[in-house]
Amino acid sequence: MHTILLVEDEAPLRELICDYLTAKSGGEWRVLPAADGTEGLLLAGSQPVDLAVLDVMLPDIDGFAVCQALRKKGGMPILFLSARAAEEDRLRGYGLGADDYMTKPFSQAELFAKIAALLRRSKGLAGRQVLSSGGVALDVPAHAVTVDGVRVELAPKEIALLRLLLEQQGQALRREDLLLRLWGWDYEGSDRVVDSHIRQLRRALGPWARCIRTVFKTGYKWEAVPPDGGDAT
Ligand code: CA
Repeated sequence: MHTILLVEDEAPLRELICDYLTAKSGGEWRVLPAADGTEGLLLAGSQPVDLAVLDVMLPDIDGFAVCQALRKKGGMPILFLSARAAEEDRLRGYGLGADDYMTKPFSQAELFAKIAALLRRSKGLAGRQVLSSGGVALDVPAHAVTVDGVRVELAPKEIALLRLLLEQQGQALRREDLLLRLWGWDYEGSDRVVDSHIRQLRRALGPWARCIRTVFKTGYKWEAVPPDGGDAT
């Protein structure tokens, strides 16, 4: 079930879109109709909204101002639906963080398809909890690592280390920073503990071990390499 905010001041059009989206989604989408910007913001403030469709020309605050206010609340997809087709209006909409801008007259089927695509994408981003590179995949919430599809057992610190490397692919991570992030301020040992965990991690990653590059005098970085290229360092 998705909740869609629809801010449109022309009543017949508002009802048409509302009925169409509700019917076409088979009742999966709940459409909250608002006749002006203020009502739209009130509705969005009183309940979670998954996506907003905004007209630009409204009797009170315009759709751009509504978009700005919604953006402050979060990253929901925002789609403009406006008779204003000028490039500057469209650019202004995108500049305020809109995800799409449709001009009137429009096809209801296309509006439905665009909303469906935006909802799919935002759901995908929110649910992205697997970090991967080459044949290595880390399912973050499950603390599970697979190498070429085969599950490998790693110690919690090794998983945490892999996560940092994968999250910041291509960037050199300093030994001191890794030590601090993984062992904390009060760790009394040497930063060579990082090296020993990197060794364990490389051993577990098989052919992908070479993705972990040693950065001279600094630390390590994850570098995606083709399966048959690159040297282990
Ligand atoms: Ca209007």
